[in-house]
Amino acid sequence: MTAVNIVAPEISIRERYRDVVSDRWPGAIAPQPDELLSSWLHRLAYANGVAPRAFARVLGLNPGMWSAALDLRLPADIAKLLYAKTGVAPDQLAAMTLSHGLPKELLLPLRDSGHRDSSAWLQFCCRCLADDAQPYFRRRWRLATRVSCTKHGCRLRDRCPSCLGRIAVFGQAALVPQHYCVACGYDLRRASIPYLSPATRTLDRCIDDICSLEAMTQSPSGPVLIRRLLSMPSVGGYYSTMILTSLSTAARTYCAQRLNLPSEWPVEGAKDDEEEREARRLRRLIPPTSDHRAWIELLANALGRSRGRPAASKGNEKGVKLPDLLGAYAKMSPASGRPAQERIGTERRP
Ligand SMILES: [Zn+2]
Ligand SMILES: [Zn+2]
Repeated sequence: MTAVNIVAPEISIRERYRDVVSDRWPGAIAPQPDELLSSWLHRLAYANGVAPRAFARVLGLNPGMWSAALDLRLPADIAKLLYAKTGVAPDQLAAMTLSHGLPKELLLPLRDSGHRDSSAWLQFCCRCLADDAQPYFRRRWRLATRVSCTKHGCRLRDRCPSCLGRIAVFGQAALVPQHYCVACGYDLRRASIPYLSPATRTLDRCIDDICSLEAMTQSPSGPVLIRRLLSMPSVGGYYSTMILTSLSTAARTYCAQRLNLPSEWPVEGAKDDEEEREARRLRRLIPPTSDHRAWIELLANALGRSRGRPAASKGNEKGVKLPDLLGAYAKMSPASGRPAQERIGTERRP
């Protein structure tokens, strides 16, 4: 990013307020839980009467994907300016970036090939946007491993259902809230919810919980797990030569479904004694939720098994198939009701 010299729009403070608010911008915006920095910046711009595209110049930046680039790296001078103008502290600003807490290798890239099946840089849950008093985009929606919403369980989208355009709020030249498509004006809160199978939702949540573990950075199985997640499309089908981060949400969902075919799941209505035997077997194989390293290794091994790869580490060939692992995970982390402390990976990094 290079500084620009063209005259930037000015956010002015009326004379009678000047004594009260010092030199802060008049529109104050509090960051929301897990909000992405770019989302907060777009809301900040709107609250101060500046369209996002013009707000780039307020920060001394060129247009383009200026805010998405700040998500990846927030320069100290811009953090200082934002702190001075909004009162949002540097550590709060840093917490909205992607520089910590999420595996960088799994982030969706900013490039856009224009192909129908290619990745978009950001996804969204239309129900979350509809529920928000101030609709905003979440940090976790930048991860290629995510295809479902943690709160609603529905499949995420990465394109406007009306024009199939990607999220491009950084280029919005009109003074419009960020939940309207920049290309066609469609209200993204009104989008229908694409179908997602329960098995795929469980896989999505299990991967998200395990990848959020602090232990991911120290466990020898962490890098193996990341490599296996990136090569999830190689399980077969249309996208077998692609890497996970290069694919659209719909294509990644297809890959997850192939990994996790319903025919491999326990048959409903199985006899009680069979169910009991299976439950006893899994209880022996599945580690407690507190054993984070074991869960990282189990998931890496289970993903490797799907493609005949060797185990992530020697001496622990526990032979848990992916559907069994997810079945055990689902029992510990049902979609509702179970207290958070009983789930794997609730000790998320700040
Ligand atoms: Zn949602
Ligand atoms: Zn659109």
